Amino acid sequence: MASTTINHGGVQPASAQLLFPFLDLQAQFASIKDEINSALAEVVAKQHFILGPEVERFESEIADYTNAEFAIGCASGSDALLLALMALSVGPGDEVVTTPFTFVATAGAIARLNARPVFVDIEPATFNIDVNVLGAALSPRTRAIIPVHLFGLSANMEAINEVARDAQVSVVEDAAQAIGATFGNHPVGTIGTVGCFSFFPSKNLGCFGDGGMMTTNSPELATRLRLLRVHGSRKRYEYEILGINSRLDAIQAAILRVKLRYLDRWTEGRRANAEYYKLAFKDFALDDRVALPNEPAGYRHVYNQFVIQVERRDALRTHLQQAGIPTEIYYPSPLHLQPAFEYLGYRSGDFPVAEKAAATVLALPIYPELRNDQQRAVVQAIADFYQHS
Ligand SMILES: *Cc1c(COP(=O)(O)O)cnc(C)c1O
Repeated sequence: MASTTINHGGVQPASAQLLFPFLDLQAQFASIKDEINSALAEVVAKQHFILGPEVERFESEIADYTNAEFAIGCASGSDALLLALMALSVGPGDEVVTTPFTFVATAGAIARLNARPVFVDIEPATFNIDVNVLGAALSPRTRAIIPVHLFGLSANMEAINEVARDAQVSVVEDAAQAIGATFGNHPVGTIGTVGCFSFFPSKNLGCFGDGGMMTTNSPELATRLRLLRVHGSRKRYEYEILGINSRLDAIQAAILRVKLRYLDRWTEGRRANAEYYKLAFKDFALDDRVALPNEPAGYRHVYNQFVIQVERRDALRTHLQQAGIPTEIYYPSPLHLQPAFEYLGYRSGDFPVAEKAAATVLALPIYPELRNDQQRAVVQAIADFYQHS
């Protein structure tokens, strides 16, 4: 039957017979089923569904996990970005500098507030915002920088914070893909002014629907974020500022509290699988044809995605699909070339590194439950492609 499934932001035609899924959430669920079910039963028994004690406990656990003074739950990672910019009073006439090689929500949050997304190209080795050209993108209208810790690798936060400090602008970390990643010894999310996390099911810490979190060390911003997520209201039917409805559900918090206890183990599984891929690509003498993801010294990559860069990417992907190997493309088009951002006036060629990445990236399965023999089948199929063409 012809059908498509929405699969962590990418849409892939349901293929006849994949050897294994791109992401196996069933396997993860099977390993924690009893704990999840009893956590769910407790929430159902209490009938307290929105915010409340379960969400507060989870917020305090995330604050501990990310070294933050404050953690504030919300309805999604997209909303976390929007609320962070709202808390910083970003609005019409303002500019916010970010990368064009990211999920749409990063720039969408800026544009939603009628501020202007200003794009900066990425570094070829990390896919993250290029700090060497970042400073030149700032203007007197710049209010904030949004680095994205893409695929689970932190951006160069030291250089970004230095640019931000000089220009006196805020830094909003898009850490949606990077919970548990570190820069130096610092967990992402608390290196900038505000950190934004997503609990979309395909993220390293995923819930059973949508969910998000903001982290900050500023008491003033924490207060504003708490107000903004509930229509700007502290006292019932009194509205201090104009907010939105963006709250984390108790059910999601209960699930996330169970999963958070396993997160470090799962991250180690992802990292071990990344190492295995790197060795296997060497074994098959593919390391000159395939550019592998980097983990620069002093960074801890959490591999939400394992993204390689290859020539003739689309032909390779078709070959892999026929061999039953699932892959995804994050992202097939950089944001400056999307119709929704056409009004910004960017052109093809403006950000050559991001454009090249969009044409050459391929994400391989990397979830912790993936077995080494399955990974070997992935690399074998890639080797077959390059041998026979
Ligand atoms: C997933 C993601 C988001 C948005 O998170 P949602 O919870 O899906 O709204 C934002 N930025 C990046 C980089 C993401 O990967």
